[in-house]
Amino acid sequence: MDVTGIKDMAQKMAEGAAEMRRFLHARPEASWQEVETTRFIASKLEEIGFKDIKIGADGKPVGLVADLKGKKDGPTVALRADIDALGLTEESDLPYKSLFAGAAHACGHDGHITMLLHAAKLLYSIKDELTGSVRFIFQPAEEKGDHSGAHEMIREGVLDGVGAIAGMHLWSHVPSGKVQWRAGPVMASVDGWNVKFLGQGGHGAMPQNAIDPTVAAANFILALQTIVSREVNPLETGVISVGKLVSGDVINIIPERAEMIGNIRTFNPDIRDKMEAGFRRIADGIAATYRCSAEIKYTTLYPPVINDSALAELLRDTAVKVVGENNVEESPMLMTSEDFSFYQKKVPGVLFFLGSGDEAKKTTAPHHSPRFNIDDDVLPTGIALMSSFACAALEKLKNR
Ligand SMILES: [Zn+2]
Ligand SMILES: [Zn+2]
Repeated sequence: MDVTGIKDMAQKMAEGAAEMRRFLHARPEASWQEVETTRFIASKLEEIGFKDIKIGADGKPVGLVADLKGKKDGPTVALRADIDALGLTEESDLPYKSLFAGAAHACGHDGHITMLLHAAKLLYSIKDELTGSVRFIFQPAEEKGDHSGAHEMIREGVLDGVGAIAGMHLWSHVPSGKVQWRAGPVMASVDGWNVKFLGQGGHGAMPQNAIDPTVAAANFILALQTIVSREVNPLETGVISVGKLVSGDVINIIPERAEMIGNIRTFNPDIRDKMEAGFRRIADGIAATYRCSAEIKYTTLYPPVINDSALAELLRDTAVKVVGENNVEESPMLMTSEDFSFYQKKVPGVLFFLGSGDEAKKTTAPHHSPRFNIDDDVLPTGIALMSSFACAALEKLKNR
């Protein structure tokens, strides 16, 4: 089937897709808790006709994988959707707003599930035209950071036999219906850190009898800035942010400890090592300067998202056929992160963006904001993009 045929089929799914997306939006489940979401997806896949659906990841009943075999044997192309929500409370008056306090689909993953399920339905209906297989990966816990769903699923073999993988993210910063793509580096790596400066508590009137960890912490925050400004090549990129600083409770007590957490992001593995080393050196050095000790915890989280050039080109060509040349643009590099990068460390992959921001429909709030929502009218475009890309990638891999 050509792209026009696929677009027509996807367009006919518009109403059902919007309805499904809103159903899921109202029932968000945070990372590693996507039990009902998984059940829902499994039941929809069974309705379509899928058999041998593999449910679960890391010993939990969340996440699932299903294969669609074409008429003839050939390569396997994987399409991935992340399915988790965020642990925040939605602020909206939408009729389909989250039913649960402390959980919200504030990143668009409800849309990702919907589009991939409909792409599965669409491709299932034309499976006799396919040479090879399409693997549908519904991945839990993209947002978890220190316990990535992608990482766990890969460990359990989700990429076995896969020749290429694609992921799509709805993007509220980009106007509805526009597609953004990029070859090479797209999103940054991310690491998390925690530092405790330990001093000696005392009376606020007698600093000479105490060791003040807050002063160490204050100097640490300032000194930290010199890693990016003085240690990293100005032509490279990196960012260090402090996410939290806690120290003391009352006006006349010098506290025992000051604790901070934050993150480090970059694209280049050498810079990543350099930033970590600088971070540790400055924490220890500042602690020594101010007679404190430093307890440092550094956690490597996600690698950078780096798109395979050939797949990125193929995605662009496919997108041009689906949405037209004027609606396809190059994405800037972003300092945000995505655990799709774990797949790309194993097989060639492409992560791209589908704009879902529309002022009139109030869908331009930033991702992870309590007012986040997506424009349901872009769902058929996403369905057509994923389906067309799977067909194009199968053709390409077959001819290799
Ligand atoms: Zn997110
Ligand atoms: Zn997301």
